[in-house]
Amino acid sequence: MNIHEYQAKELLAKYGIGVPAGHAAMSVEEAVAAAEKLPGPLYVVKAQIHAGGRGKGKFKELGQDAKGGVRLAHSVDDVRKDAGEMLGNTLVTIQTGDEGKQVNRLYVTDGVDIAKEFYLSMLVDRASSHIAMIVSTEGGMDIEDVAHNTPEKITTITIDPATGFMPHHGRSVAYALKLEGALAKQAQKLAAQLYEAFTALDAEMLEINPLVETEGGELLVLDTKMSFDGNALYRHPDVEAMRDETEEDPAEVEAGKHDLAYIKLDGNIGCMVNGAGLAMATMDIIKLNGAFPANFLDVGGGATTEKVTEAFKIILSDDAVEGILVNIFGGIMRCDTIAEGIVAAAKEVELDVPLVVRLEGTNVEAGKDILANSGLPIIPADDLGDAARKIVAQVKEAA
Ligand code: ADP
Ligand code: MG
Repeated sequence: MNIHEYQAKELLAKYGIGVPAGHAAMSVEEAVAAAEKLPGPLYVVKAQIHAGGRGKGKFKELGQDAKGGVRLAHSVDDVRKDAGEMLGNTLVTIQTGDEGKQVNRLYVTDGVDIAKEFYLSMLVDRASSHIAMIVSTEGGMDIEDVAHNTPEKITTITIDPATGFMPHHGRSVAYALKLEGALAKQAQKLAAQLYEAFTALDAEMLEINPLVETEGGELLVLDTKMSFDGNALYRHPDVEAMRDETEEDPAEVEAGKHDLAYIKLDGNIGCMVNGAGLAMATMDIIKLNGAFPANFLDVGGGATTEKVTEAFKIILSDDAVEGILVNIFGGIMRCDTIAEGIVAAAKEVELDVPLVVRLEGTNVEAGKDILANSGLPIIPADDLGDAARKIVAQVKEAA
């Protein structure tokens, strides 16, 4: 789960980490009130969307010369003007895709005199089973470009969670950022605090870009992104309360409510599968046959009629779907029960695209009979390869 910049800063501040003062705002009035609470004279008005690259982003509704999604304002009146221009409009950045994201929240924050910008991120590195801290002196720009053009300027420090953060990790961070004296001490302390926040909050990813050294010699988190392990959210109701569903794919939100694991993808073949491994294999074989899956969807072990119906509705809510492949293995849940569920669901949702079903497992013959006698134009398949070939052919034929 992702959260907004202002929320991440709120969390980090609780761990003693330095962030500029600021307040969130949902309206122009709130933005003005937020600015009035800050010392000034320099304010920064920042669009709060779950995507980076806001500074260089463009608003769809404003001209090419208009300012982006991170604006320096030199008076409260300018804050009012910027807030009015940004709220409700659509910001397009390199991370939002062409459709952009509507800006519904702003963060009004202190303008900082920046002496230098750095990069620092953390993630769970599955390959080493450690927590990786990635730092670079090249902050404020696209880290992907830095990694591509000057990889030697990126340092990765890994921390074994069994032994935790050690002073030498902090020294490595300070050294990689080429900091000395009091600033190096600050960097060491910051790294320890970030590790503490990251692990205590069950974060999955934390990116600070830029981390800045101010003209006054202070290290501050100027921009940050944070995401959390969904499986651990029950331990953090305060973090869960930060969820902003308007930032998430509506179909994914709906799927979550029905305990379905759904992720929208770019293709045109909807997939309904039980089991994550089988879902991955199904997507692979669709691709092998020259088409692309429209989604990943795992209905889980208990593929009940209710779940299958919801899954159909979610798949069909995607206009890109031109055919559906159901691939279900009846283990504990028998194939005849699943077939009944598919028939009932297909009738309820008024299916208007080809549907190929591959069933395997317990009571498979009884299941196939139910599908064949349903009166629905369901295309049966014998195995996964057959199923993929059939649905791809159906979709190509219709096109
Ligand atoms: P994004 O990465 O989405 O473009 P940032 O918060 O990193 O957004 O802002 C882009 C740039 O704007 C930063 O690299 C920094 O130079 C400047 N900036 C952001 N916040 C402030 C601030 N509070 N004071 C001064 N400059 C800022
Ligand atoms: Mg940034």
